[in-house]
Amino acid sequence: MKHIQEFGSYAAGLGCEVLYDEQMSRHTTFRIGGPADIFITVNSISPLQKIYSRAFEEGIPVFPLGNGSDLLVADAGVRGAVVTLGSGFRKTSLISDTELECGAGAPLSSVCGFAKEHSLTGLEFAWGIPGSAGGAAYMNAGAYGHTVSEAITSCSHVAKNGQCVTFTRGQFDFGYRQSVYMKMECMIVSLRVKLKHGVKDEIGARMDDLLARRKSKQPLELPSAGSIFKRPEGHFAGALIQQCGLKGRRVGGAAVSEKHAGFIVNLGGASCDDVRRLIEIIQDTVLRETGVRLECEVKFVG
Ligand SMILES: Cc1cc2nc3c(=O)[nH]c(=O)nc-3n(C[C@H](O)[C@H](O)[C@H](O)COP(=O)(O)OP(=O)(O)OC[C@H]3O[C@@H](n4cnc5c(N)ncnc54)[C@H](O)[C@@H]3O)c2cc1C
Repeated sequence: MKHIQEFGSYAAGLGCEVLYDEQMSRHTTFRIGGPADIFITVNSISPLQKIYSRAFEEGIPVFPLGNGSDLLVADAGVRGAVVTLGSGFRKTSLISDTELECGAGAPLSSVCGFAKEHSLTGLEFAWGIPGSAGGAAYMNAGAYGHTVSEAITSCSHVAKNGQCVTFTRGQFDFGYRQSVYMKMECMIVSLRVKLKHGVKDEIGARMDDLLARRKSKQPLELPSAGSIFKRPEGHFAGALIQQCGLKGRRVGGAAVSEKHAGFIVNLGGASCDDVRRLIEIIQDTVLRETGVRLECEVKFVG
């Protein structure tokens, strides 16, 4: 623990905001998760590089946190450091008439809004995905037949040894909810996105339409981590779960959403263990009754 305290003091000395035993439930859209030993908010590259290289030297695990919208964090919390990007990593700017650059901490919605304001089309599908730009690149987030991989041209990250590295197309290994970053321990810090000229009002109308579809189908009024499972080939997870009569099935404070069976919602006071038990029930039932194995999309932490 002394080790951790010293690491926290080091990060604070670099100008970072450091919290000890910070409840992760405050930083996840599920509103679930116990304390992180240290929770560090970083606002520029140089301290981030120093934090990564020091953690690497000392063997302190670092978990890069985005907006916490695809996470199920253990009730016991996270050992080591959770590092998140602060306001210094949230800017978006134009770098050519059709390309923009954003900090990885920028909310994806703000990047979509920026693209619309500049009459750039290609990100409308992502409007309403509640992640950060970095989290979207890590997850290769997508919706309505598109993924962010179609637009990303380059991404810079701080590697676990503290080096800053830029990847370009051909290096991302993007697949369905998959990227090269899942095999690395790094923090994505910025992204470049290539879009096309469009008509602002038409872009806005498409965004409004897609958001309305989300609101009508998804239980956005309750805490969740979005779709718990990946889409199994040839099926929809929600439809299979509904077909097995699991809508509304409850474990403690966690329940299969009545509105969209692909979502598990926190009805209040759900623990990570409640959600894990419910996931197991769903997976076992769906496998037994339909022969389809459901794989989790949500990332388990701690
Ligand atoms: C209501 C709701 C609707 C959703 N709808 C969709 C949808 O339509 N499509 C979709 O794809 N997803 C959807 N999601 C899931 C989620 O929003 C996306 O996966 C999103 O991309 C996660 O981004 P995040 O910043 O919240 O990442 P987090 O949840 O914080 O982290 C997810 C993973 O990314 C890693 N990560 C995050 N930021 C960085 C970084 N800067 N550098 C390195 N690694 C990082 C984390 O370590 C973790 O492993 C939905 C979630 C909710 C709650």
